[in-house]
Amino acid sequence: MQRFAATCEAVAATTKKTEKVRLVADYLGSLPVEDAARAAIFFTARPFPRCEERTLDVGGAQLWQTVAQLSGADEPTMDRVYRQHGDLGSMTAELLASRSPEPPPLRLGDVADAFEELSRARGPTQKLPRLEALLRRARPIEAKYIVKIITGDLRIGLRENLVEEAVAAAYDVSLETVRRAAMLSGDIGLTVHLAVEGQLDQVRLRLFHPIDFMLASPAESAAEAMDYFSDGALVEDKYDGIRAQAHKQGSQVRLFSRTLADITAQYPELLPALAVFPGSFVVDGEVVGWREGRALPFNELQKRLGRKQPDPALLEDVPVALMAFDLLYRDDHLLLDTPLAERRAELSGLVGSATGVHVQLAPVEVCTSAAQLQQAFEAAQARGNEGVMVKTPASLYLPGRRGKQWLKLKQALATLDVVVTAVEYGHGKRRGLLSDYTFAVRDGDRLLEIGKAYSGLTYAEIQQMTEYFKQHVLADEGFRLVVEPQVVVEVAFNNIQRSRRHAGGYALRFPRIVRLRPDKDAGQIDTLARVQELFARQAKGT
Ligand code: AMP
Repeated sequence: MQRFAATCEAVAATTKKTEKVRLVADYLGSLPVEDAARAAIFFTARPFPRCEERTLDVGGAQLWQTVAQLSGADEPTMDRVYRQHGDLGSMTAELLASRSPEPPPLRLGDVADAFEELSRARGPTQKLPRLEALLRRARPIEAKYIVKIITGDLRIGLRENLVEEAVAAAYDVSLETVRRAAMLSGDIGLTVHLAVEGQLDQVRLRLFHPIDFMLASPAESAAEAMDYFSDGALVEDKYDGIRAQAHKQGSQVRLFSRTLADITAQYPELLPALAVFPGSFVVDGEVVGWREGRALPFNELQKRLGRKQPDPALLEDVPVALMAFDLLYRDDHLLLDTPLAERRAELSGLVGSATGVHVQLAPVEVCTSAAQLQQAFEAAQARGNEGVMVKTPASLYLPGRRGKQWLKLKQALATLDVVVTAVEYGHGKRRGLLSDYTFAVRDGDRLLEIGKAYSGLTYAEIQQMTEYFKQHVLADEGFRLVVEPQVVVEVAFNNIQRSRRHAGGYALRFPRIVRLRPDKDAGQIDTLARVQELFARQAKGT
């Protein structure tokens, strides 16, 4: 473990990727295969291979407590050292440095065994003594990286793809086969074993072990999107739900989320619906709230997110459907290297005749011009979907990649229609003009302030609005005037934040006024529910 840690320090000390790879490759190459496999996993900042569901379940508070106990340091000292490094691993190394005598070096196998035990231990009462025993046996530099592995970030500028490069270099095998084996098995340790044995091409997808999802790049307009597709594009609706990978074999079905978490129990109605299709398969799709032939808005589906075991009332309230749009595996055949158009045809053969509502083949059309794509986009929005996905018919399925083979075309960034509730005088050129507007959204009869914008209006508009506001003052608070909530403006913003200061619990960041909305009155402004929906969507990253 000491050499592992020393290698990590050397990797951290260089910014050159080739040098990082060389250091890791040299180290791996010098180890017996068992240890190289363990080290490769640890280099990815994981105690266990990615494909495993096992976790250590040791939090920062437990680490903090253990280090305090072992080092005898008081709270202020711990705080100071932590702030100095901003990292629990480095803090641990510094605080344990004064212990003497130094323990004998740990072997990688010792650390792997200790992780194993920690994962089996239940609750803090079982975990803490094991964690303490492990750190007690570790030298400071070893403890530093043990803690970093536990927290899941080595912070040495070594991403997973560099570890794969190092494995390829260490055993003189092609990077592509290493990447593929690591992707399919989800186990960089197993990949090391196979590289040594010359068996990398033997890796098979294992059902019920999810693989990374292929992602899409944004396109600004239909015209820009079509630039990438000279021979036409396959166009599907972009559903506003959550991505899911469904694995099926025999009567067993499991669902995985975009973070590869097992979400099977959250969508019980999808399981029998998927089990009816023949053979074994892996289907990629989007889970959406679904009622009467239409996808529900995302905030409806949101009621089901995170509910581990939804009750019957919720199942009825928000029914879901899996919109299937890709097929990655069918009856022993991996289809990742099959062009999308063919995968689509297979998918259609598999689920196309489905009659139930819970699993549906996502409709697809071919577009050959920007005008046609624009039409498809508008039709998708009219169906209540976010926009469209535009895909190259010949594209292979590239797990974890965000390329130009898949493009997403969605609605421009959302704006909110809000009502001005208070105004303040501006500075500089705007002295004497009421140019800073506090504004609110609606929640039933209440108005809830969610931000303040320095006007984006023209000078003439500001002058005109100043006169108007002066006539509609409800309260003069000196530096600001509370005004009758009548003036509606449309605001754009960078994002939405949670806020304790605002009664509604949210604040817009960097809001700017896009335009006055004289066509709307305060009864027609956006609601808190809409803000919550946008906030949820933003958290989801779509
Ligand atoms: P992004 O995650 O930023 O690449 O945006 C694409 C997301 O849109 C995917 O991760 C899916 O969750 C979702 N999505 C909705 N409909 C589709 C579709 N027809 N094809 C691919 N992704 C889709």
